[in-house]
Amino acid sequence: VAQRNAAPQVYDTAAIQKMDTAHYLHPFTDFQDLASKGARVIVRGDGVYLWDSQGKKIVDGMSGLWCVNVGYGRTSISQAVYRQMETLPFYNSFFGTTNVPAAQLAAKLAQISPPQFQHVFFTSSGSEGNDTNLRMVRRYWDILGYQERHTIISRHNAYHGSTVAGASLGGMDGMHAQGGLPIPGIAHIGQPNYLESGHGLSPEEFGIKAAGWLEDKILEIGADKVAAFIGEPVQGAGGVIIPPGTYWPEIQRICDKYGILLIADEVICGFGRLGRWFGSELFGIKPDLITFAKGVTSGYVPLGGVLVGDRVAKVLIEQGGEFTHGFTYSGHPVACAAALENIRIIEEEQLVAKVADDTGPYLKQCFASLGEHPLVGYADSCGLVAGLNLVRKKGATVHENELFDEDQGVGMICRGHMFDNGVIMRAVGERMIVAPPLVMTRAQIDEMVGLIRVCLDKTYADVKAKGWV
Ligand code: PMP
Repeated sequence: VAQRNAAPQVYDTAAIQKMDTAHYLHPFTDFQDLASKGARVIVRGDGVYLWDSQGKKIVDGMSGLWCVNVGYGRTSISQAVYRQMETLPFYNSFFGTTNVPAAQLAAKLAQISPPQFQHVFFTSSGSEGNDTNLRMVRRYWDILGYQERHTIISRHNAYHGSTVAGASLGGMDGMHAQGGLPIPGIAHIGQPNYLESGHGLSPEEFGIKAAGWLEDKILEIGADKVAAFIGEPVQGAGGVIIPPGTYWPEIQRICDKYGILLIADEVICGFGRLGRWFGSELFGIKPDLITFAKGVTSGYVPLGGVLVGDRVAKVLIEQGGEFTHGFTYSGHPVACAAALENIRIIEEEQLVAKVADDTGPYLKQCFASLGEHPLVGYADSCGLVAGLNLVRKKGATVHENELFDEDQGVGMICRGHMFDNGVIMRAVGERMIVAPPLVMTRAQIDEMVGLIRVCLDKTYADVKAKGWV
């Protein structure tokens, strides 16, 4: 606390940037491009705000990277971490040992998750969680004697991580293009993106149609070869793609019909983001496995894992023998201690209900009003994720909007204004997205949306000056 409230430290930004570009290869970064600009140095956080090395205050509309659910500067989490480090900084969970926070967190997760989840497998990240899923569902079918049943169906434009299985399960073309991905045994279907593919249909009709692509793919591959379907309840990194309400129940029906396991990747949607502990509860589905990470510790310490439903757990436990999979840091005591305190805060401050009943609906209202801006052709939200699409000209329906050329980079121009004006909003092509900390108040939503509006005006002035509208 003392340090956080002390007079701002002075940083030599240029020196840090020089050191950074000389030695640090950043994730998902064009190294040469970054070196020519220098990275922005973030030095401090408190609540929903960040400060950079030049003293600039920024509203963090992205919760770090969709993870700082309880906001920055939670002393009780740092104290829990400190206490655990002093008591037992590390011990493994291999060879018949456990540690207290890991056992407590596993029990806590069983308590807050849907009733079919009584077991958890810990990792340190969402990617490792999805690698675990791939091995676990194949193992499940092997134990039951269905060695052919190994294919996992996912979706284009999904994000499931950056490890080999994670990137293969994901549906990002740019990632598949590097390193010979996807690995065999993974298939992709279209995403439930109403704007992209819903022409001539109501959202409800489109939801059924998009779910039907799963059945088509199962029949094409052969149901006896399909192990599982994986999807994010709301696609995050793909651009906050919120599916029509009809989509997930129909996916569930199809999985049930063919006996296929359903994996919900809740790395973003979990821990209150959509106004439920898990997004699958909002969409009324009953997954067999849930990938989690990010919000489980609010990003204070890396932790991820898989919630394993009874259907899979029973087979692995009762018939499986040794599952030859795991990580040095599975059940890391410090990460688990951070998660326990983070979850305690979410419960104490009733953040899940706050998103469901208060700030979620308020953000929806604010984004609806941003939808009236001349540059915005579509805006929607779900809990505390929201997005808006920048368009050249609005049409009579969302499918008749005239779009900017991709290479005009209007999303990046807009994102630049956001950065310069003290708000972080992410650009996915021309879709601008936010996922603020769950502690964000209505007044802070007003502040964020006010800044977004200013930046939309500036972007509009830019594209007008260029003659693009
Ligand atoms: N799944 C989803 C849905 C994600 O959004 C992410 C990260 N953005 C991951 C998996 C991968 O998580 P990590 O970066 O912790 O490996």
